[in-house]
Amino acid sequence: MALTLFNTLGRELQVFEPLETGQVGFYGCGPTVYNYAHIGNLRAYVFHDVVVRTLRRLGYQVKHVMNITDVGHLSGDNDEGDDKMVKSAEERGKSVMEIADFYTGAFFNDTERMNILRPGIVCRATEHIGDMIALIQKIEAHGFTYFAGGNLYFDVARFSSYGELARLRLEDLKAGARTGVDENKRNPQDFVLWFTKSKFENQALIWDSPWGRGYPGWHIECSAMSIKYLGETFDIHAGGVDHVPIHHTNEIAQSEAATGKSPWVKYWLHNEFLVLDKGKMSKSAGGFLTLQSLIDAGYDPLDYRYFLLGGHYRSQLQFSYEGLDSARNARRSLLDKVRSLAAKAGSGVVKAAAEAWKQGEPLSVAAQAYLAAFDRALNDDISTPRALAELWGVLRDSGLEGGEILAVIFDMDRVLGLSLKEQAEKSFERVEDAETLREIEDLIARRTGAKKARDFAQADAIRDTLKSRGILLEDGPAGTVWRRI
Ligand code: AMP
Ligand code: ZN
Repeated sequence: MALTLFNTLGRELQVFEPLETGQVGFYGCGPTVYNYAHIGNLRAYVFHDVVVRTLRRLGYQVKHVMNITDVGHLSGDNDEGDDKMVKSAEERGKSVMEIADFYTGAFFNDTERMNILRPGIVCRATEHIGDMIALIQKIEAHGFTYFAGGNLYFDVARFSSYGELARLRLEDLKAGARTGVDENKRNPQDFVLWFTKSKFENQALIWDSPWGRGYPGWHIECSAMSIKYLGETFDIHAGGVDHVPIHHTNEIAQSEAATGKSPWVKYWLHNEFLVLDKGKMSKSAGGFLTLQSLIDAGYDPLDYRYFLLGGHYRSQLQFSYEGLDSARNARRSLLDKVRSLAAKAGSGVVKAAAEAWKQGEPLSVAAQAYLAAFDRALNDDISTPRALAELWGVLRDSGLEGGEILAVIFDMDRVLGLSLKEQAEKSFERVEDAETLREIEDLIARRTGAKKARDFAQADAIRDTLKSRGILLEDGPAGTVWRRI
């Protein structure tokens, strides 16, 4: 089965065919660095990560670009509200650049802890003002702009396919126009390309431009930077569903107006929201959960990654601590199982166990079938829940050899990104040598045999012996696993 993705543009599943054989240009909207990322934002970046890893697994060379928004983003995506960066800087008594540097660092600290691969190109908006101005000049030269009240606007009425992505109808929007909209706008959907006059007298970052000293609107940065690094047309653009009606709709209008090329982007992928019991999670509303708050509550960042993988990206995912507990338990038994298998394989180290297999025989038909099913799940619009189920399937298959199981799940983990090998190795360091591990495994096997023979006294005796040595047994869906008390 070929990779099939749900394209928001057209609202249908489409077989992925890159513009250039073997290459993929991928742009994912990055964070606005005025505060920590909340765990909903991190859902978006885990999603981008899994798509990029899947494409690489399929053999594509992926150029992954992500922007860092450090200017121009107002709290309302349509030019309304406060300037997010300026407000945050004022509240914290810092400069905008200090705020941007601090939260950019915090963002990458979070993504690293969640094993999200860093995009090959990370670009800051404030370092690309020249590119934005050049793009706006093209849009202007093609007649899509007007100047009013000191700002340069994009005139959506001149762009006939405006709103196609979001299936907006300009006529309906006009009829339902809101009050309180910027009076300079001819249409409420028109948006600012360049501000020279705004309500923010104290705007710290301003640049010279053909339209006067000022700063760019938010949307133009993504058009300018993606075109700069990926070309005038490219393959995939991703972001959260909130970006469909305004941000991405406006990005398309600007980019196609500037280059005259359509479609600008071939596939648009949008992740649904992570929601709290109380509803939407938002950075501006305050009271949001960060990765650090989960860590402080005793969770590993990878527990949260596992939790996210358990939901399909196009479904809303309800966050709860019960759900996170289940993810933590599942991930722990996964690691325990990996560790036990490695011990059984006799090498004592996970790496050696898996690599011994890699250099040896080819995988059995049964093992290959698991990998094929895993690939099918991902190819079917990135179904991570089904991919995880295949991982568990192979782990529970008693017909496969330990080393082979490890080889298969480590291969799967190249996409899932649970760091299984490293995590299991880390836990190995805490225990004794391979001989002890084998001894434990032997005792567990004897206990399983005793239970089968309904000799519960013997089974309990073995459990107690291990317990007296500080080893706790847990019977779970993946068989019996052990951990140190
Ligand atoms: P921002 O930093 O606000 O520009 O958002 C960064 C990314 O997170 C964007 O792709 C948003 O669409 C996405 N996003 C925001 N809130 C959520 C949420 N609750 N669940 C999933 N994605 C979100
Ligand atoms: Zn964007």
